[in-house]
Amino acid sequence: MLVQNPPAVSLTTEELDLVYSLPYERTYHPCYESEGGVPSIKEVQFSITHNRGCFGFCNFCSIALHQGRRVTCRSEESIIEEAIKLTKMKGFKGYIHDVGGPTANFRGPSCEKQIEHGLCKGRKCLAPEPCKNLHVDHREYLAILRKLRALPGVKRVFIRSGIRYDYLIEDKDDEFMNELIEHHISGQLKVAPEHCSAAVLDKMGKPHIEAYKRFQKRFYEVTKKQHLEQYLVPYLMSSHPGSKLSDAVKLAMFLKENKIHPEQVQDFYPTPGTISTCMFYTGLDPYTIEPVYVAKDPQEKAMQRVLLQYYKPENRRRVIEALIKAGRRDLIGHGEDKLVVPDVQYTREQNTAKRSDKDKHGAPGGRKNDPRAQRDRRDRNNRKNKL
Ligand code: SF4
Ligand code: SF4
Repeated sequence: MLVQNPPAVSLTTEELDLVYSLPYERTYHPCYESEGGVPSIKEVQFSITHNRGCFGFCNFCSIALHQGRRVTCRSEESIIEEAIKLTKMKGFKGYIHDVGGPTANFRGPSCEKQIEHGLCKGRKCLAPEPCKNLHVDHREYLAILRKLRALPGVKRVFIRSGIRYDYLIEDKDDEFMNELIEHHISGQLKVAPEHCSAAVLDKMGKPHIEAYKRFQKRFYEVTKKQHLEQYLVPYLMSSHPGSKLSDAVKLAMFLKENKIHPEQVQDFYPTPGTISTCMFYTGLDPYTIEPVYVAKDPQEKAMQRVLLQYYKPENRRRVIEALIKAGRRDLIGHGEDKLVVPDVQYTREQNTAKRSDKDKHGAPGGRKNDPRAQRDRRDRNNRKNKL
């Protein structure tokens, strides 16, 4: 028997404000004190949630399943009230670590139509292209951030939750981009292009890589203008349904061309209830019922994963094996257009292969019948005759 509960109705602003006004302790249970506390408390203790839900609706993410695609928000007053409470807490040093949620820069419905008719079924607001009806507006979020920055006792306000860069880049008004870079990043901004192959991104329900390139360009232009040293940290995923070894090679080359060295990469994990999980288990795209390639073999999954960190010395052997398997020996070697330099084992194998090739060609009549040897002999004779 399968019991499926209907999804919970999204909380209204008033309900959210009520939930967040409850007298939380904002710390771990005292029973952990004797064990030295819970280190991860640092990540959340001075962070504020301003929204719930996400209309990004990526195929691999379960946020939309348990918080809804409809974005609902706390009121400005409720957020400011919580920030004031933070400033009075023991251990507060003037830094609010995050003002975010599932997607930090969503604050309100995706479009006018959504308010009356709900979110479109079988269509995404941002992928593969932003919907024409999408309402892009950061003014309310920015107004809150400005007020938080001005609170007595607050030195900096950071945004650590994910930013949907493809939504941000659609904003005709540059104010949010400028202030985000000037005030709300602590050296690195984490964004999630996830992949570069259009075929894989379509299966992820993410925008194509061109949106990321546009954002990347704009981000570094503004950063330079503000004389800051700040970087983008892209989140990437290997072996998502639809990703073949050739797609992972393509991604590795994209990373190399863009000088991106991801410190962390995520291997696809089938989380309950998502569209990607359905693809993983059925091998079908539930939207079209067409077959989808799924990497399940642990060897191949490991190869797809190491390709994204091809530059790490400990990954070299596996990267070489992956390139051989993908039929891309042309990427092994020295030079800017190569992905990895050969290791001792590869060089030895190449030399053995060359030798056996030579023996094969020279075998019937020895060097005597080898055309190259005949040409060398001819050249030697000509030189002797000239002398
Ligand atoms: S944008 Fe982030 S939170 Fe929203 S669905 Fe995608 S992964 Fe989940
Ligand atoms: S009309 Fe566009 S923006 Fe509005 S819910 Fe549908 S897909 Fe999203």
